[in-house]
Amino acid sequence: MTDDMKSPAPVTPDVVTIPRKRPEGPDGKVNIVGLTRDALKAEFARIGTPEKQLKMRVNQVWQWVYQWGKRDFAEMTNLSKAFRAELDAAFVIEVPEVVTKQVSDDGTRKYLVKIAGGHEVEVVYIPETNRGTLCISSQVGCTLTCTFCHTGTQKLVRNLTAGEIIGQVMVARDDLDEWPEPGVSTADAPPRLLSNIVLMGMGEPLYNFDNVRDAMKIAMDGEGISLSRRRITLSTSGVVPEIAKTAEEIGCLLAVSFHATTDEVRDVLVPINKRWNIETLLATLREYPKLSNSERITFEYVMLKGVNDSVEDARRLVKLIKGIPAKINLIPFNEWPGSAYERSDREQIEKFAEVVYKAGYSSPIRRPRGEDIMAACGQLKSATERARKSRRQIEAEAGLNG
Ligand code: SF4
Repeated sequence: MTDDMKSPAPVTPDVVTIPRKRPEGPDGKVNIVGLTRDALKAEFARIGTPEKQLKMRVNQVWQWVYQWGKRDFAEMTNLSKAFRAELDAAFVIEVPEVVTKQVSDDGTRKYLVKIAGGHEVEVVYIPETNRGTLCISSQVGCTLTCTFCHTGTQKLVRNLTAGEIIGQVMVARDDLDEWPEPGVSTADAPPRLLSNIVLMGMGEPLYNFDNVRDAMKIAMDGEGISLSRRRITLSTSGVVPEIAKTAEEIGCLLAVSFHATTDEVRDVLVPINKRWNIETLLATLREYPKLSNSERITFEYVMLKGVNDSVEDARRLVKLIKGIPAKINLIPFNEWPGSAYERSDREQIEKFAEVVYKAGYSSPIRRPRGEDIMAACGQLKSATERARKSRRQIEAEAGLNG
């Protein structure tokens, strides 16, 4: 890669904390979706709820919204009519609006959802035997420019709010019709359709840390959606300073977009590597399982023909990650219009997998899902491409011209 200097986009912007405003819905009412329990308490205090009742009121409303999926205060029958009216005057319960839903031949569902400001993000539901994974987005577009990634061709529009992040989970539960009925025991309920969350959609979650953390705390809350922290995987391209914070403040599983075994190649594929190189990243990852008490880290590795798929790469990879409890996900590249790479041959992927497997690591080759609806990994991009990069720029970033 010799053309990185040509790219006008910042490769690794500083982590900036933008002060968060109260999320406002229509008529200046506050949207309570995405507020932490403490924030909700403060809001209820603001409308005059007596101090002594605050905790109980928060619990009650929380359960209606996140356990039973209700969106109308009028349905919250264990609250007095007067309190329901007060809530209705000050708040809304709003989730993103589903604009389109596509269902793949293999059952994968892709939703295009609209958030405030008319922006759109994609959410993908992948059903598997005994579980179902929802891949959610954390940003509209992405500031990073991973050259194999379709989302990376769209510039960052904005961070999602916590409400918009957890809202993606809520709209998927709506579509799957998976909110339990109040008062009905879930003891004999079948396995959950939506049992896992992966933050692998659009955006770099660790560049939107606070909102991602708040949303995932809501997903994990035992009196609501109640997913275990081991069923949530956050995937980062390697924002080193935020990784320890993820362990401490979220505690979910971690996946890392690794994709290369030398800095030279990773600088091109995952340009954040120029800021935090392989050595620095691995040193941080070694600490993660101890800090978060989680079993192992997933290394995502996209298989690109002639770029990162040699047997030498596989050998280097197992050497690099030695000592880290890990699983390596091999992802056959999913091509998208204008992409600069090709998928590795099946035979080559299998050779690579064998080296990794023989070194003692699980090395599943991911079965591409939802390809017919462009829902496969790395193919996500909202239909409204406001700031699209040119083909020339994509090629320049991949080092293919000049
Ligand atoms: S792989 Fe992730 S971090 Fe890289 S450009 Fe795509 S969405 Fe952004």
